[in-house]
Amino acid sequence: MFIPLDTCTDEFSEEAAAFGFCTACGKQHSLPYGAAKFYARQLRQQLEDKGDMLLPIPDGVENQQDIQKQIDALEGNPRYSMEYLWGKALGQMLGVMVCKKNDGTIGIVRAFSGQYDRLYQIPGWVPPVMDLARYNAVNSAGNKIVNDYSDRIEALAPSEQAMLQQLKRERKACSRSLMDELYGLYILGNFKGEQKPLKNVFYSQQGMRTGTADCCAPKLIHYAQQNQLTPLGIAEFFYGAENKSQTRQHGKFYEACEEKCQPILGFMLCGLP
Ligand SMILES: [Zn+2]
Ligand SMILES: [Zn+2]
Repeated sequence: MFIPLDTCTDEFSEEAAAFGFCTACGKQHSLPYGAAKFYARQLRQQLEDKGDMLLPIPDGVENQQDIQKQIDALEGNPRYSMEYLWGKALGQMLGVMVCKKNDGTIGIVRAFSGQYDRLYQIPGWVPPVMDLARYNAVNSAGNKIVNDYSDRIEALAPSEQAMLQQLKRERKACSRSLMDELYGLYILGNFKGEQKPLKNVFYSQQGMRTGTADCCAPKLIHYAQQNQLTPLGIAEFFYGAENKSQTRQHGKFYEACEEKCQPILGFMLCGLP
């Protein structure tokens, strides 16, 4: 959801917020914080005041009334409460991107990383990178097969050790192929109009971790590409209870993560003027 701004803040930071090495150009591409920290602080304040993720849809947003209706229908549902991030979830990254429409309108777009209490989509926030309906269909079909194996394994008599090992191997293979199939639904783009499957984009010595392309930066940049928006700045900040290793604190800004985002952002930012 693009939220147009009447005036843009003067606050601006050249510091790189999202970046990665582009193998096609042989150099790093990056996006600065720009004016995004200002709007990220504003977002944090709105969430603290409202107490949940169901922020009112501002005037000027396309389909404002429709989205507001969706929000109203969810109002009061504890699942969207910010309390979630102060409890067992131990906080989450949120992100804001300042961007420009083709007609010159400046606005912001906001995202939460991964899932919010198992929700991939909340009205007013950008959707995930993959096609969610297809993802859910593939995931539930795959899980059914894996669960069937679990049922068969549980039903085995203790004497059937060979069969047990066999079924466990097969179940593991099924889980792995389900993961591959789900990753296959993530198609990333860049600003030259190229598209590639996530697996072919990921550029790192390390293996690809679960949740790659689910962080705020890839979600926001993907949304910009899908909606002909030009990103001008991006800011990701942490909301909620400090994590166990104390590397994340409420309200603090963090650059795009090294393990999951930097290996894909070089490609995704390629071609950005
Ligand atoms: Zn990340
Ligand atoms: Zn490039």
